[in-house]
Amino acid sequence: MAYDENAAEGVWIYCEQEKGGIHPISYELLNKGRELAEDLNTDLTALFLTPNGDNKQELVYRGADRVYLIEHDSFDYPNEMPFKENIVKVVEENKPEILLIGATNFGRSLAPRVAAALETGLTADCTGLKIAKGEFVQIRPAFTGNILAHISTDRCPKMSTVRYKEFDEFERDTSREGEIIKKEAIDYTGPDVTILEEMMGEDVNIQEAEIVISAGKGLKDPRDFKLIEEFCSALGGKVGSSRPLVDEGWISRNHQVGYSGNRVKPKLYIACGISGAPQHLAGMKESSIIVAINTDPSAPIFDYADYGIVGDLYKVVPELIKQVRGE
Ligand SMILES: Cc1cc2nc3c(=O)[nH]c(=O)nc-3n(C[C@H](O)[C@H](O)[C@H](O)COP(=O)(O)OP(=O)(O)OC[C@H]3O[C@@H](n4cnc5c(N)ncnc54)[C@H](O)[C@@H]3O)c2cc1C
Repeated sequence: MAYDENAAEGVWIYCEQEKGGIHPISYELLNKGRELAEDLNTDLTALFLTPNGDNKQELVYRGADRVYLIEHDSFDYPNEMPFKENIVKVVEENKPEILLIGATNFGRSLAPRVAAALETGLTADCTGLKIAKGEFVQIRPAFTGNILAHISTDRCPKMSTVRYKEFDEFERDTSREGEIIKKEAIDYTGPDVTILEEMMGEDVNIQEAEIVISAGKGLKDPRDFKLIEEFCSALGGKVGSSRPLVDEGWISRNHQVGYSGNRVKPKLYIACGISGAPQHLAGMKESSIIVAINTDPSAPIFDYADYGIVGDLYKVVPELIKQVRGE
């Protein structure tokens, strides 16, 4: 049940686990959460649901004043329903004012379920959060990124998902002390959610890659992704894609770079046959070095590229692969 602001106190971060560890987005949220909690003169709580919470103290080192730890074997991907049930219960008992969740694939699926069960709102994919005149303000691009909407809500918990790599991580401080509170998990007995697994496809994780090579509509056939894969294996990168190829079903959404896909910040981003629409740029323009390969010299991607190659990707990419391999 939603509750009003007068009954609510504290900033909470849902700390996502990843393969037995803690997803780095948790440290980014703890950093931003710390700032919000200090501005509101309140505490920062980490909510950690995991099969094994041996690493719980890390969340204190990364900024939390308190950790609610709920351990259960069912906290394994991809079924987010046990997470939802347990989060809702502990939130209803403790009534935080703010609850932040990372906008990872898992977080994007979990957060709306939690918000619906708590009958509260959710601002998705925030790129900024602040306290202004005592009010929690959630900032996110709207109208395909043309404006930045500032959103405030009065039903609690005030929930936002936050994009990965939007904020810096809280710097680890092993002198920090905090409270660890263990909570009993409730067993989830409902149906499994398997849609998520299908949607997610294979585990690509291009957001972590140091080199991303993306293809766009300059690619003529889905089988030609083999060429991009070959380029990736020569350079040690991961395959990205513009959205039209994902919409066509040529590659899974996990590879999509852009406003409605993944935001990447690799050391090297190579755009092959991508025009450079604002929605694509939104996901890659902060890459350290951008290389664009495009037949059209007036393609907007060249305005953002550090190195531009005007040419046919079917000729340029095989040549680059040869050069990288020293052939
Ligand atoms: C709400 C919304 C969200 C969106 N989110 C995203 C998103 O997350 N990511 C995203 O990518 N898009 C997104 N889009 C779509 C976006 O607006 C563009 O339509 C899309 O990015 C264009 O993809 P593209 O560059 O591959 O295709 P195009 O714009 O068609 O460009 C293809 C390019 O390939 C070049 N080319 C053609 N043949 C060759 C060749 N042989 N060799 C080299 N170059 C060649 C052409 O000159 C052209 O510049 C979104 C749109 C909306 C409305």
